[in-house]
Amino acid sequence: MEYIENICNEVEKRQRQYHAMAPEIVMTSSFFFEDFEDFAYGCSNEFDSYVYTRGTNPTVELLEEKLAVLEHGERCKVFASGMGAISAAIITLLKAQDHVLLVNTVYGATVSLVRYFEKYGVSCEVVNTTDVDEIIKRVQEHTRMIYFESPSSQKFEMIDLQKLAAFAKTKEIVTVIDNTWASPLYQHPLDHGIDVVIHSCSKYVGGHSDIVCGAIISRKEIISQIEEKGYLYLGATCSPMNAFLALRGLRTLPVRMRNVHETIQKVIDALREDKRIEKIHHPYCGDAKQKALADKYLTGYGSLFAIDLADDDLEKLKTFVNALQVFTLGVSWGGFESLALPVYKGKNQEDIVKRGLKLTHVRMYAGLEHPDTLIQDIKQALDVAYGTV
Ligand SMILES: *Cc1c(COP(=O)(O)O)cnc(C)c1O
Repeated sequence: MEYIENICNEVEKRQRQYHAMAPEIVMTSSFFFEDFEDFAYGCSNEFDSYVYTRGTNPTVELLEEKLAVLEHGERCKVFASGMGAISAAIITLLKAQDHVLLVNTVYGATVSLVRYFEKYGVSCEVVNTTDVDEIIKRVQEHTRMIYFESPSSQKFEMIDLQKLAAFAKTKEIVTVIDNTWASPLYQHPLDHGIDVVIHSCSKYVGGHSDIVCGAIISRKEIISQIEEKGYLYLGATCSPMNAFLALRGLRTLPVRMRNVHETIQKVIDALREDKRIEKIHHPYCGDAKQKALADKYLTGYGSLFAIDLADDDLEKLKTFVNALQVFTLGVSWGGFESLALPVYKGKNQEDIVKRGLKLTHVRMYAGLEHPDTLIQDIKQALDVAYGTV
């Protein structure tokens, strides 16, 4: 377990001109130069000096330093959103004719983005499996990137990171993981040989449903490349105000993560035997293989999970969702509030089946409310949906 206070003190020392306890919000677009020499230095060392906030800003940089330490990486670059980070990584690390494997139910917008790059000659295949041997079979001559999530979106299934990384290295394929589910505290993919880690800091890092922010953590060479290309060209710059809010989020991240780690286990234990739920998707209640991967790679549990109702009755699904009192119907996650998000959005039945999900699949996020409150809420909503009240 990381102790965030050690990280805070060390890197914040130089920020403390006013002896302020909290980091400064350097809310400026540009920085002035002392003299011509200073100006000339800034122009030729754009990334090491403060010239313009689309390049480097002290508040954003402080967040980058902390995230790099937390993810056991050499460097981090922070972006205006998770998608800003993902776009920058993909644009920088791929070229025309490259092939990408999108593995293990990747976040929907990421899949759409890679498919959009087909117009620039990038091809992709979506491989929804956790089996590394199966992934290896899908690798083609031009495969240059394996982009994946573990635990994955919607099914929250895990992949053997070491096995995947070891294989990818033999073929010089870059491995990119979206590690948002585990937060920078509960899984360290770089330690297992994965090349690039991405986070949507809009979730656990921000932690209060009030910012959109993203990050990439990797080796120096890879981050420099992304900084010079995808970061600067696409301009998905994080505002210093949002960087400050993410820094504030980091201060309570260990406490919040410990809390959701405990809550999610209590919630799952209380729902596991409920006959009205066919399946709960979360590494804590996965099969033996999934449990072994969770024990190997996770040092704690994230609290994003999903449930499938016992049947495909969309009326029951609607009644269940409408009956929830504490869980709020809404996108995103990682803040205080518990949330529910059915995959069924009114007319997308076909798409749900194609993605291998059950029609009554509901993604749920357990927030910071008391676990008993959450359990009671789900139980009473099931009572209403199944007519047992
Ligand atoms: C939310 C999310 C994203 C996108 O991040 P934004 O900050 O919303 O752009 C990417 N991946 C995962 C797993 C997410 O949950």
